[in-house]
Amino acid sequence: MNPAFQRIKTCLLLFFALFFSNLLSGQTLNPYYQEIVSKVSYDTILSNLQKLSNLGIKEPGTAALNNTADWLVEKYQSYGYTNISRDNFVYNGNQLSNIVVTKTGTIFPPKYLVIDGHYDTYQGPGINDNGSGVVSILEIARLLSHLPCSLSIRFINFSAEEEGLIGSQHYVDQIVVPTNMNIMLVFNIDEVGGVNGMINNTITCERDEDTPTSNNAASYSFTDTLVNLTQLYSNLLTKIYYAYGSDYVPFQDAGEVITGFYESNESPYPHSPNDVLENMSPAYVTQVAKAATGAALYFAGSQAVNTSYPLQPQEPACIFPNPASNELQWKIQTISGSYLVKIIGANGQCIAEKSYTSNSECSMDISRINAGLYSVLFYFDNGNSMSVRFVKGLNP
Ligand SMILES: [Zn+2]
Repeated sequence: MNPAFQRIKTCLLLFFALFFSNLLSGQTLNPYYQEIVSKVSYDTILSNLQKLSNLGIKEPGTAALNNTADWLVEKYQSYGYTNISRDNFVYNGNQLSNIVVTKTGTIFPPKYLVIDGHYDTYQGPGINDNGSGVVSILEIARLLSHLPCSLSIRFINFSAEEEGLIGSQHYVDQIVVPTNMNIMLVFNIDEVGGVNGMINNTITCERDEDTPTSNNAASYSFTDTLVNLTQLYSNLLTKIYYAYGSDYVPFQDAGEVITGFYESNESPYPHSPNDVLENMSPAYVTQVAKAATGAALYFAGSQAVNTSYPLQPQEPACIFPNPASNELQWKIQTISGSYLVKIIGANGQCIAEKSYTSNSECSMDISRINAGLYSVLFYFDNGNSMSVRFVKGLNP
């Protein structure tokens, strides 16, 4: 093909991809999720932030850090969790603990959604960094405690993040890598408190743009999904930025797929005695917690037990890359058995189909399909189906 024409065609396809980005993203408002998200409580968030204020400066070796760990364990217990453990490690002669809470999935328990945020602080009480993330995670844990979810969820509050990601690096080195932990996605929440006196209406959604690059396309796709879910379940605007300097880094370095939330008005107060409740916005944290709860429900594949809601299909969380050229890949939340994948063209004709018997193979060769807009349909053996649109780009 003439190179100039090829460029024009590529531009048209990219335009198509952007124009149809809402359709491509695939999620629509789920009334069942909406009802749960509506229970995210400003009062609960405020009282948990006040408790974290009273606990003081949470640096390694302080009673405040140990007391905060104890308080977190009590909180998770009060929400009904029984699988709570401490991942202990020694740093600078101090015995420290990551708090690890597991909620077992109902359909695909070996696969995990990790939701994490650190609870240690530096040179201040850290009510924004990262009290805001901790109370957001507590809200998700409180509201999802008794809801069946297809995937297992692991809530982790890391310690010694401020000392150089020590707790999360320890967890990845000692648990994730040696046990070959099956993680669908790591969702990190760090510093989402906003700045008192400013208009706090935007959340930064973070994605992996770093090496290794093998896990970046999936991170981009999940982050696009997070953007869409944020718009569905909160009143926040979104922007996308690269992930850096928080507990997702050891995970992404080990090849795991990550996404994250970070405040858009970057507060000047973290790592100082002024990182206090009065300098941030609990109302903003409440919106962040709503977005995060909607995202957690979707990513973990929560299904309504109340029959007044339609049973949700087992949705693939994402397909990637999008546009795709040679190979289309997907991450599926739940597979109870075999499934069939069909590629459907604009006229409704079936272009390709393939049966899958295991969840380990999640890709299809699309190199011989013409460039254009397609739907990929997943038919699960329990009768559910799911359709996601994608753009087939030009072969490189
Ligand atoms: Zn932080």
